[in-house]
Parts: sequence; structure tokens; C-alpha cells
Amino acid sequence: MLNGASTTCCRSARTQGPSGQASSERREGEPNVSDQRPGRAGVAEHRRRSADPSEGVETLTVNNPSTGERLAVVPLSGAAEVDRAVAACREAGVAWAAESVVKRARVMFRAQQLLAEATDELAELVATENGKALSDARGEIVRGLEVLEYAAGMPTLIQGVTSTGIATGVDAETRAYPVGVVAGITPFNFPGMIPLWMMPIALAAGNSFVLKPSEQTPLTAVRLVRLFQEAGLPDGVLNLVHGGRDAVEALLDHPGVAAVSFVGSAPVAKLVYQRAAAAGKRVQALAGAKNFLIALDDAPLEATADAVFSSAFGNAGQRCLAGSVLLSAPQVHDPLLVALQERIAAAPQGPGTDPSAVITPVINEGSKRRILDAIAATVAGGARVLTGGELDEGGGGCFLPPTILVDVGRSSPVLREELFGPVLTVLPVEDLEEAIAIANESEFGNSASIFTSSGAAARTFRETIEAGMLGINVGVPAPIGYLPFSGWKGSFYGDLHANGADGVRFYTRQKAITTRWPG
Ligand code: NAD
Repeated sequence: MLNGASTTCCRSARTQGPSGQASSERREGEPNVSDQRPGRAGVAEHRRRSADPSEGVETLTVNNPSTGERLAVVPLSGAAEVDRAVAACREAGVAWAAESVVKRARVMFRAQQLLAEATDELAELVATENGKALSDARGEIVRGLEVLEYAAGMPTLIQGVTSTGIATGVDAETRAYPVGVVAGITPFNFPGMIPLWMMPIALAAGNSFVLKPSEQTPLTAVRLVRLFQEAGLPDGVLNLVHGGRDAVEALLDHPGVAAVSFVGSAPVAKLVYQRAAAAGKRVQALAGAKNFLIALDDAPLEATADAVFSSAFGNAGQRCLAGSVLLSAPQVHDPLLVALQERIAAAPQGPGTDPSAVITPVINEGSKRRILDAIAATVAGGARVLTGGELDEGGGGCFLPPTILVDVGRSSPVLREELFGPVLTVLPVEDLEEAIAIANESEFGNSASIFTSSGAAARTFRETIEAGMLGINVGVPAPIGYLPFSGWKGSFYGDLHANGADGVRFYTRQKAITTRWPG
């Protein structure tokens, strides 16, 4: 653990990690996330005061998805580590909450500068541990920087409202206060951006924070937390706990945690939401997705093909905004399939750290097998693989070829379930009405995109589609960091989304004050 508590070097070994990766003890010279020691006095004192509960903790070996080689060993911490992190947060959080909002904002300005300077280094870390292309990795850091820039405006974002003269000599106002200790639990697919959806706004608003990153991508989080420390965050205000389910459950149950921000798969999001809410915590849980792309006959062909290709196959389909079903109108259907196949044939495969790579690996072997099984089941149900589907065993990495499925029945699970891999199902539709009806049958509602030259069709889509993030001739409609990340239906559990005004509201609580002065 970094900052408020610690873990020691791994002592016990697992034969199988939760994500299906082999795991064992660390080898000489191998990076070990648990060796990332806090450099601040307050933290070290905290560690010295107690016996180290992380001794004997289980570990998980993180493999490089592009090569299969061991990358790091991550401790799978539990309740004892969480307890120490929350205690550090609570202790340090009192002074941080009382600090002037202007000073807290300045720490965010400084963090923005440090992270901007470290963009290439952070992108390299993301591309290495996640496997995504360097350009995507750089893009996610830039997206995270937007949130820091937004959070640096906290002195105005946190302003209350006043109503003067609500009765004779009586005024009313609201004031915003931090909620306390916030736990952030993040997924593997955006190791840089998603922690940055949470930490800047929560911290600038005066909260202290425990980050529990995905155990599959722990390295970027370590660097991020160090950069926040360098930016001047006081000791103990931001803590990092590595681990999986045990660490998450300890955070959800901990009475010292006031709010939980979660991003991850739908089943876990639901569990997290229910458990945290039952413990009386404020919770936002951003969940899985099944995103539909609609191409109408008047869609510009080449630009649409580019956008669909990138949406479906970029980062190996491992984006919560990845388009995984293309609903194409009669005239555009065949030309689009040809254009997509051309793009697939021309796309170089390689490790994310290779600047020319477009086709990059999925996160691990377990994921690769799961996706292949889903393709096989869809084919067994009558579908046809137009391209891809075959396993490429070369190179040692977790590569899957971009796969297009056609002749898929309307009741096929592939239209409903999130595969989180480079698989695009293409279904012909008669018109926009049919496309919207199919998309709206989904239990999810994260994003949807339409490709058209018709303003009227785009407007109908905008007004009737049941999804929270919409693209009009945009394949991955990720909102800028100043706007809420607004999934609907089964893609979100909670009330206030991440980022933007929702983020500020989520990480603050209000006092409404009514004042009467005699005289
Ligand atoms: P995941 O649910 O497996 O893991 C997310 C976090 O939950 C991790 O920190 C993990 O350690 C923890 N976790 C895993 N299993 C748990 C359990 N049983 N109990 C408690 N905690 C548990 O998700 P992932 O595979 O890392 O990420 C991919 C998923 O995240 C996809 O479904 C994707 O759509 C979703 N996602 C959603 C958004 C969004 O904004 N809606 C953004 C990014 C990713």
C-alpha cells in the first residue's frame, strides 16, 4: 500500500490468480508494486507503529498482455491493509478538509502540471500493463488531465447559493462540505483515466481518498499516487491499496468509508452498489455495457467505416464505450462490411508499446478463452464468422483477431451480453425505427452512436435512444472530463455520475442555513 499504509514483499504464493493468471513469488529484479514505498514521514511512522499485517498476504503475478511475460507481483491485500489506509485517511483528512479550497485547488494545478509532463511515461506504463496502443494510452491520460483541470476550479465549483430576504430579516444559503473518506475502485481497461475521474474532484472538494486499482493493472496507479504526493498532497490524504475482492469488500464494509466510487463489470457493480448502500454509504457504480452503432443509408461510408472499426476493435474492444453491435440499413450494409474487412486486413498487430500497433491484445489468457468460447457459442447458434474468430497462438501475447459475426439471430446472447473483446456483430435493419427498437431492448444503456447525414434522423435518435452517452457521427462518444459520464439502465447504479457537476455533488454534502439577526 502506498502512503497511508503499506504492504511488504509477497511471501505466500498462489497457483492461480482470480483472473486466471498463474501467480507465484517475485523473481530477482522484477518490479514489485508492493515495493513502492511511501516517502513521507507521517506514513513511515504509521507503519512503524503497527505490526505489518500484510506479511503472508497472497499475491498475484501480473503478466504483460502483449508478451505473456511476468511484469510485476501484486499483493492481494485484505481487511487489515484497508483498515490502516482508512485510518490514515481519517487522521489526515481532518486538516485537509479544513484547508482552504484555494490551496487544495493549487495542489490540483500542480498535479496537472506534473502529470502533463509525465504523459509519455504514464502512457508507456498504461500501454505496457494494459496492452492498449500508445496513442490510446496517451489519450486516456489527456482525458484524465481534463478532470484535473476541472477540479482545479473547485473554488467556484463548490460555491453555494443564497436567498436573501426569505422572510423579514431572514436569509438562507447553502454551503458544501466534503463527505469524508472516499474509496475508489477501478477496472483494468483505463488504468490512468478512471482513477483520474475520481481522485481530483474528491480531493479538491476536501475528501481523503483510498484508491483500489484493478489487480490486473496496478502499476499506473502507483505512479499516479506518487505524482499527487509530489504535487503537495499532505501525507495520508491519498492512500493506495492493492488487491481484489477481499480489499473491495473490506472497503465496502468499513465504517470509516463514507462514499464509494466504483467502475467495473455489471455483476460486480451491482454487488458493490447493494453492499455499500446497505452499509449506509453514498455510492456510484459505473457498470458494463452493450453499445449499438447505427449506420443509415445516408451515412458517409469511409468516415463511418473508420469510426466503426475504431469503436469495435480499438483497445481490443475493451472499452465501456466500444461499439459491439452494428445495425446497418439496407444500402450501406454490404459496402460497410467490405470497408471494415479492408481496414482489418490493413491493421498491424503488435504490443501496445509499438507505436505502429493497431490490433493489440486483450488483458489476459482467461479473457481470451472466454471471448473465443462466446464466439463459438454464437456460431453454434447459427451465426457465421465473416472474418477473424481464429486463435492466433503466435508471439505469446493475448491477441485475438478482430472478428465480425453475421447471420446472428435476434435472440442470440451476443446481442445482449458484453463480450469485452474485439468482436463486432453486424445485423441488417430496415430503418432507424427498427434499429432503435433493437438497441432499446438492451438491459444496458451506456452509449450509442448514429451515422447519418440527416439532422432529422439524428434528432429522432437523440430523443428516443435509451443510452446516456450518444455519438452523432462519432464512434466512441466519451464526454469531455467536464461533463458527467452518464450511463443509463444496467450500465449505472446510483444517482450521481462520475465527473462534471455530478462529480462535485457526489463528493460533497450540503448544509442549508437559515439566518435571522435581531435588529
Ligand atoms: P471487474 O468488475 O472485474 O473489476 C473492477 C474492480 O472490481 C477491480 O478493482 C476488481 O478488483 C474488483 N472486483 C472484481 N471482482 C470483484 C468481486 N467479486 N467483488 C468485489 N470486487 C471485485 O471489471 P474489469 O474486468 O476490471 O473491467 C471491465 C469492466 O468494466 C467492463 O464490464 C466494462 O464495461 C466496465 N467499465 C465500465 C465503465 C463505465 O463507465 N460504465 C468504464 C470502464 C469499464
